[in-house]
Amino acid sequence: MSETAMNKLAVVTGASKGIGKACALELARRGYDIAVNYRSDEDSAARTVAEIEALGQKAVAYRADTADIGAVKQMFRSIVKEMGTPDVLVNNAGIVDDAYLLLINEQSLDRSLNVNIKGYINCAQQAALKMYSRKKGVIINISSVSSVLAVAGQTVYSATKGAVNSMTSVMAKELAPKGIRVNAVAPGFIDTEMMKSIPDDLKTQYLAEIPLSRFGDAAEVGKVVAALCSEDFAYLTGQTLILDGGLSL
Ligand code: NAD
Repeated sequence: MSETAMNKLAVVTGASKGIGKACALELARRGYDIAVNYRSDEDSAARTVAEIEALGQKAVAYRADTADIGAVKQMFRSIVKEMGTPDVLVNNAGIVDDAYLLLINEQSLDRSLNVNIKGYINCAQQAALKMYSRKKGVIINISSVSSVLAVAGQTVYSATKGAVNSMTSVMAKELAPKGIRVNAVAPGFIDTEMMKSIPDDLKTQYLAEIPLSRFGDAAEVGKVVAALCSEDFAYLTGQTLILDGGLSL
């Protein structure tokens, strides 16, 4: 059977918009049913579900704050019961709250650590537990070019995304004997809501530094993520792929 004809299941966190939604739609185009995780925006999650269904795949929205281990455990229990064992997890739900070092406040720091690090570990742990029995699976962690590029004001964000790269290689080593591959995709500037927080003059400055002379599109991230999930990349694990139009070169 061809890859597109199989009934596989992907869990995508933060899938109601932006890069998460683009990953969900691209995986659906490639024959995956999708568990659409969202935190609070029920209407947007419902729109993602409808767009996946229009592609002929099954989709169910699951509300859970990925930073909350109890909610994540409950979500994975429900997913397995209602949709089956996940073949793919895309750890995408992340936040950015830039501040210069001297202005970082503890509440914002804790929230970023909780969502961008703890949230990824929570979901990877629960997905891996379910994938273990079948001895196969793929986990993609969405990192950021900020994990390798110093941007003023991003001490916290860079630290969390650097942690994503590190956890990716350790998870990959631990899970390889169980047939589970783990890779990270580190996007550069991608035109989503997250970028709206960047002032226009800074955007113009960043644009001038991108060799491909444009910001990326969420759909382009979705295509790379979906490709990495495919058997074409069966020998790739533990790697962080920087998808930034050359910004970090
Ligand atoms: P976005 O803000 O448009 O979407 C993020 C989604 O994640 C939102 O739907 C949000 O509600 C959800 N989310 C946040 N915290 C959550 C939580 N605790 N539980 C469940 N859902 C949660 O952002 P985006 O640009 O689509 O970013 C997605 C990922 O890509 C993030 O990890 C981000 O760090 C990364 N990234 C984005 C860019 C960019 O330029 N847009 C660049 C590099 C990396």
